[in-house]
Amino acid sequence: MRLILLGPPGAGKGTQAQRIVEAYGIPQLSTGDMLRAAVAQQTEVGKRAKAVMDAGRLVSDEIVNAIVSERIDQPDCAKGFILDGYPRTLVQADATEAMLAAKGIALSVVIELKVEDEVLVDRVSGRYTCAKCGTGYHDHNLKPKVDGVCDKCGSTEFKRRADDNPETVRTRLQSYYKDTSPLIGYYWAKKKLTSVDGMAEIDSVTAEINRILDAV
Ligand code: ADP
Ligand code: ZN
Repeated sequence: MRLILLGPPGAGKGTQAQRIVEAYGIPQLSTGDMLRAAVAQQTEVGKRAKAVMDAGRLVSDEIVNAIVSERIDQPDCAKGFILDGYPRTLVQADATEAMLAAKGIALSVVIELKVEDEVLVDRVSGRYTCAKCGTGYHDHNLKPKVDGVCDKCGSTEFKRRADDNPETVRTRLQSYYKDTSPLIGYYWAKKKLTSVDGMAEIDSVTAEINRILDAV
């Protein structure tokens, strides 16, 4: 099962990816997370990426492609993987096709999560994650069962991304529409695209995605 989750920031890709990981036992490859890890570890690639990410822009294709390609070669990706936040541009989509072809594998499906813009700003501004295990939460939409305690690991430490504020969301939305949304047509033409109503409740979206994945 090799799939791409496609959609604007706040559409629910990360939330659904965490559930797919649990249900299907395949890893979530989030370039955002992989990049932030490289930045935190101050690797060579991380340093190069930091300056660009701080400005809210996209890091070079060369950096991202290399990170993803190496990651897919790791043994836990043998059964498949979820790409979340990559590819973001048509150039990256072509690079992904070429990279997978060179490895002798192909995508199973691309799932697009459709959500209205006004809702996205609220979703991104209200989201946070467990500092220890990374489980995602939201101020109103998805609270831990016990206030201030992670459902999954019991940690009481949470974090918010510095760029999850209404101003930055609007900038990120613009780059989504300009650079990433053309991928919807790209994968539709390749007969890989399935669109899901991302405005539905989180559990309903999960059920719909499971139905799609069970059919591929
Ligand atoms: P993405 O990874 O696409 O940027 P996230 O999965 O981080 O989006 O979701 C953004 C925020 O919206 C999170 O706080 C999440 O809890 C919440 N959220 C995700 N899906 C839904 C949904 N279907 N309904 C309501 N809130 C949602
Ligand atoms: Zn946790």
